[in-house]
Amino acid sequence: MIVYDLSCEKEHRFEGWFSSAEDFDAQVEDDQVSCPVCGSVSISRQLSAPYVNTGRAELAAAPAKPSGETAVAGVDMESLHRKFVEFVLKNSEDVGSKFPEEARKIHYEEKPRRSIRGQASPNDIEALRDEGIDVFQVPDLPVPPDRVH
Ligand SMILES: [Zn+2]
Repeated sequence: MIVYDLSCEKEHRFEGWFSSAEDFDAQVEDDQVSCPVCGSVSISRQLSAPYVNTGRAELAAAPAKPSGETAVAGVDMESLHRKFVEFVLKNSEDVGSKFPEEARKIHYEEKPRRSIRGQASPNDIEALRDEGIDVFQVPDLPVPPDRVH
């Protein structure tokens, strides 16, 4: 899985998750990647972004339209999931139950952009999505005891 920093023609920046560089190219070519802010499909990659970031409130990765699931074979999904969770934990700030509030502040640029994680009720998540804030949901975050902080 790779994360790209993307921007549309109006320079709205967002992130996209893709299974590979080829997957990214194919999705952009098919107009399957759209700007979460304005819906534009003129998407370009920010080549200058030297970092990989994940777990932020605004993971606007998912293509708006369902795009033929990527088939994966021979991958140990459980260990992949565990690695993903560890990555999120390491690279995001735990804001706990303030998640919806913080996600909004970041979205409306009242707070610097950063990765956050926390708790939100299904209603909160729906409300955030209605406001155009794409929340990446980790259904069950099994926090390893040595990583709680
Ligand atoms: Zn845009």
